[in-house]
Amino acid sequence: MSTPEPRDPTVALTAETQAALSPMDVLQALKDGNKRFIDGTPLERDFMKQVRETAGGQYPMAAILGCIDSRVPHEIVFDKGVGDVFSARVAGNFVNTDILGSLEFATAVAGAKVIVVLGHTECGAVKGACDHVELGNLTSTLANISPAVYAINDFEGERSSKNKDFVQAVAHENVEMTVRNMVDRSTVMRNLVQEGKLMVIGAMHDVATGEVMFMEESMITAETL
Ligand SMILES: [Zn+2]
Repeated sequence: MSTPEPRDPTVALTAETQAALSPMDVLQALKDGNKRFIDGTPLERDFMKQVRETAGGQYPMAAILGCIDSRVPHEIVFDKGVGDVFSARVAGNFVNTDILGSLEFATAVAGAKVIVVLGHTECGAVKGACDHVELGNLTSTLANISPAVYAINDFEGERSSKNKDFVQAVAHENVEMTVRNMVDRSTVMRNLVQEGKLMVIGAMHDVATGEVMFMEESMITAETL
């Protein structure tokens, strides 16, 4: 089998170039993009050219589920362009029925190969859940993060947003639980993983450095399902 030419990442994905990517290729493309972001060497892209290239259809490589935090813009921190990634964002990067449905579209219908659950340091939603904040509709939003707060049950020290280590432990746990929820609560995505067409992985973005640390131990593939 001949090795295909590496695709030009500044050209929008097509059905063919999307099909040629494995989940591991996509993971590497995300890691490479974050490396360029933190090195200050993002690719030069003509966004309007990509708009024209994608007008007839989209073939993204990945779907990112992240927080609404203004410091974690997906396309920027992974150095991606128009048509490259689906982006689902909700305070505290958890899944509910609507987000699972959106990600089922992104993967089963539109062919994304990797889902990244992207938590981040200094997450206000996680801090709110740690402090059991109640405010309008936010109360029920934060209830989605509470299982991660209670799962950190052997923590020594103050269990509040004042304690950075506790907040980070909850944020990490929340990402791991969300990765697991993805395949536990979605038969569609579970089947894609079983068929080797999808990988789900957690990651943590450091808002102080811009670096995304992939949590390799959280990775769910056909082998680890
Ligand atoms: Zn956040």
